[in-house]
Amino acid sequence: MRASKTTYRAARVVGRIASRSLDASEPRIVAVRDSAIHGQGLFARTDLPGRRKLGQLSGCLVRLPFARKTVESEPAIYLVELSRRYALDCREGNAFKHLNHSCEPNCYLRIIRRVVEVYTLKQIKQGTELTIDYGLTPHKEGMGCQCGSRECRRRI
Ligand SMILES: [Zn+2]
Repeated sequence: MRASKTTYRAARVVGRIASRSLDASEPRIVAVRDSAIHGQGLFARTDLPGRRKLGQLSGCLVRLPFARKTVESEPAIYLVELSRRYALDCREGNAFKHLNHSCEPNCYLRIIRRVVEVYTLKQIKQGTELTIDYGLTPHKEGMGCQCGSRECRRRI
């Protein structure tokens, strides 16, 4: 984490989104460990069925496009865009901020207004890293991808 108080102020925090339901269940089903993809990642602690809700991301509600500017220069992405005006900045959020990108993901985010839920896309074996597709990143040249999947787009 390289976030500083200064970048937070620049991002104009307009609210906080706390996670209620998932903080309780999260430690039993996921674990944060070193990832082969990038830095730390989130891993399944048990076998998981497809289409299972794992929990909800927590973080700060920030205004776009200020928030986009602050992540452009960061090596990791902790920003989930909710609408044209708002994003969820997860730098100080719960363990779901460690979800790495894969071009062949096994999880996805479901965004309902300001609530960002994490679901499995398919059955996941215990010990597997949980990944989502970030889509396009705010970085001008894109970010290099090391997800290792056969479908890898190389840049995201
Ligand atoms: Zn990839």
